[in-house]
Amino acid sequence: MKIIRTKAALRTLTDEWSRAGQTIGVVPTMGALHAGHLSLVGEAKAKTDRVIVTLFVNPRQFNNPEDLANYPRTEDSDSVKLAPFAVDVLYVPDPDQIYPDGFSTSVSVSGVSEGLCGAARPGHFDGVATVVSKLLLQTAADEAYFGEKDYQQLQVVTRLAQDLDLKTRITGCPTVREPDGLAMSSRNLRLGEEARKIAPVVYHVLTDIAEGLARGASLSELLPDARQTLDKAGFGTLDYLELRSAQDLEPMDSAVRPARLFIAVWLDGVRLIDNIPIPSA
Ligand code: AMP
Repeated sequence: MKIIRTKAALRTLTDEWSRAGQTIGVVPTMGALHAGHLSLVGEAKAKTDRVIVTLFVNPRQFNNPEDLANYPRTEDSDSVKLAPFAVDVLYVPDPDQIYPDGFSTSVSVSGVSEGLCGAARPGHFDGVATVVSKLLLQTAADEAYFGEKDYQQLQVVTRLAQDLDLKTRITGCPTVREPDGLAMSSRNLRLGEEARKIAPVVYHVLTDIAEGLARGASLSELLPDARQTLDKAGFGTLDYLELRSAQDLEPMDSAVRPARLFIAVWLDGVRLIDNIPIPSA
């Protein structure tokens, strides 16, 4: 696996691959890799001739300077975790390769960016859309793989690739969970021992609501119990707990068409997010 830090060096390789008629799959990440990221890498390896994993902690998608400062940076152990996958390139762009002096462009996706994390983290999805546009162009990606763990992000990226006529096809991959149900996340590393034990309640609250919706209850009927469960377990602020249409993220109250149930809640100073699919009842 080559580690490449400039877009010029990357372009030399991707041009070579394209001339040889090889397809390029890309997995964008912010590092601190876990089995969730590696499932995307496995998918890319299975589907494309060449695989690039990108590692860039993108300052523009952090709306909280403390969160940016505390974000884990573990390039060496990330390289070790990627070794068994025989990835072609780990692209770790120097910051000026993404945001050179004078950089003045922002990609902003309306509609699917609004609400949920878009409302709770102002500017977050503009930062995501801008960096993902650049990474897909710099890597000349034919295919790119994103996790359903960040389902709203997946919708934003799908939209921008379509709207900007990028050649990249976007594929969503299922959320990988710990054995106790907690969705894997780089931020889980920041949970204290006690908080880590409590954290799977997030997933259990979602699956309890899913059962209620399948019985024909509405979300508003089920919300008070869910809030109480979270409060009793010791969670902090609930940013949102919402049911949205799986396709366009329109708000819903009962499962009249395929939907997703979304949550963002604070625990031990860490913001946990999760979502699950809800089939129509
Ligand atoms: P991040 O490094 O958190 O920006 O995530 C990079 C990619 O990995 C994104 O497409 C995420 O949606 C995906 N990802 C993160 N956690 C998981 C998970 N638990 N299961 C599947 N994909 C994930």
